[in-house]
Amino acid sequence: MNFYQNTLRNMQRAAKRMKLDPEVLDRLSSPEKTLIVSLPMRMDDGSLRLFEGYRVQHSGARGPYKGGIRYMPQVDLAEIKALATEMTFKCAVANLPYGGGKGGIQCDTKALSPRELERLTRLYVNGIHKIVGPEHDIPAPDMYTTPQIMAWFMDEYSALAGKYQPGVVTGKPIEVGGSLGRGTATAQGGVYVLQEYLSQHDRSPQGLKVIVQGFGNAGEHMANLLHELGCVIVGLSDSKGGLHNAKGLDPQAVMKIKQAKGSVIHSDEGEKTSGEEILEKPCDLLVLAAMENQVNEKNMKRIQAKMILELANGPVTSEADDYLTEKGVVIFPDILANSGGVTVSYFEWLQNQQSHYWPLEEVQLKLRRMMGESLGLVLSLQGKHGGTMREAAYILAFERLEKALRLRGL
Ligand code: NAD
Repeated sequence: MNFYQNTLRNMQRAAKRMKLDPEVLDRLSSPEKTLIVSLPMRMDDGSLRLFEGYRVQHSGARGPYKGGIRYMPQVDLAEIKALATEMTFKCAVANLPYGGGKGGIQCDTKALSPRELERLTRLYVNGIHKIVGPEHDIPAPDMYTTPQIMAWFMDEYSALAGKYQPGVVTGKPIEVGGSLGRGTATAQGGVYVLQEYLSQHDRSPQGLKVIVQGFGNAGEHMANLLHELGCVIVGLSDSKGGLHNAKGLDPQAVMKIKQAKGSVIHSDEGEKTSGEEILEKPCDLLVLAAMENQVNEKNMKRIQAKMILELANGPVTSEADDYLTEKGVVIFPDILANSGGVTVSYFEWLQNQQSHYWPLEEVQLKLRRMMGESLGLVLSLQGKHGGTMREAAYILAFERLEKALRLRGL
């Protein structure tokens, strides 16, 4: 089952459990608009290369489409459709006035010079600018896209619009309309969900053994925040492999080595493992912060974690979700656990609309309250309907989406 089929299956299971009107499910089972753009780019060496870009607008029922842009060689339409669909549900769980969208370019950022990356981004904006905009569709960063790329995006869009348009994209650097706390937001939101859940069970994060897969924006901040809270980070990984130390790793020391040598595997803080092995080491909490389908029917029986938190989108397949939930593993689903990123993106967009910028404490206070509220509603729906926390999160989103769809007309 691919990521898109998996997402549809998650929707179908929740719909069945809540006895959702099949017309509502149908309405949300395919994206409203799909755009594929061909991007011919002159490379630094003078050659011409053709790249393919995508923007998928899944549902605008609750407001403008919202969702990141991914730059990766494996990006394809099915993946972007899955991610756009998840965004619709994530924004509804977080109760943001947004629908869902997602975009991407099939490219390897590690093989592009900074000038090529900028040119490619500007070409992409030219290709999709007619369907995006601060009131229509607002992209943001995702895998291998950075605040700098968002700044180029905003600049090119503003040039095409003939006016300064900071609200067209979120995740920008502070100097050009970014929000304080956006860089750490995805991880911070996940931490608030975890802390709230643990406190409801009279537990604290202190001493929890944690493995983090994916040491990028989401994963690095997660490892640092959990380390500060007294968790023991026993494993870290990136696209080149894993690093393990049962006694604990210092994530900041590992990051220094990753920055200097390109991967966590070069650090002598722990033992080098493969990317697959690190997922199977004993721990209390496995944080998945890389990509989809990482815990699946092949490795699910070897997973030893007691809790899994999905900072990535779609990292646990639905077969693995069933199997692990049955075994008593608590899984914090992506559309709840990683919604801190889009929530602070919403704050950034609000600040851009008003040209009024909030202090970090205000961002974090509001984020904490919203993450806690979403978790509370999801847990109470899980109590009412049974099933997994993922099904309950989808049920919450369906309830909100159905109301909006009926009010506007199915
Ligand atoms: P990023 O590009 O900053 O980092 C990705 C990291 O994953 C890199 O360290 C890379 O080496 C690593 N990686 C790639 N393939 C891997 C593999 N097979 N095994 C282990 N590590 C691997 O991306 P990010 O923004 O941190 O996004 C990570 C995940 O979080 C994605 O699924 C993304 O959709 C999701 N997410 C991100 C945000 C956000 O605000 N950035 C918000 C919500 C969800």
